[in-house]
Amino acid sequence: MNPSSFANENNQNENNNTSKKKRGGSQKRSWVWEWFLSDETGALCQVEAIDGQLCNKHYQNGSSTGILIDHLSNKHQITKGITKQDYVVRNKL
Ligand SMILES: [Zn+2]
Repeated sequence: MNPSSFANENNQNENNNTSKKKRGGSQKRSWVWEWFLSDETGALCQVEAIDGQLCNKHYQNGSSTGILIDHLSNKHQITKGITKQDYVVRNKL
């Protein structure tokens, strides 16, 4: 009566390797945190100036990392690719 009833045996029962590992809670840390110290009130700029003083510019909690990035690039000429080591070496030259 119905010849097509057996045609559908494409059983794709492959091993579903879905790893359910979820990294709980921790936000993706931005590179700006290489340069900022986060405390309970916000973020504190830890960039060391040529004279050895820390910048200590403070940003309130909730400030977007964009603001921090602006500060780093405007005040310290620090951008994403610059590591602390690069920066120190440049200052010591
Ligand atoms: Zn700063």
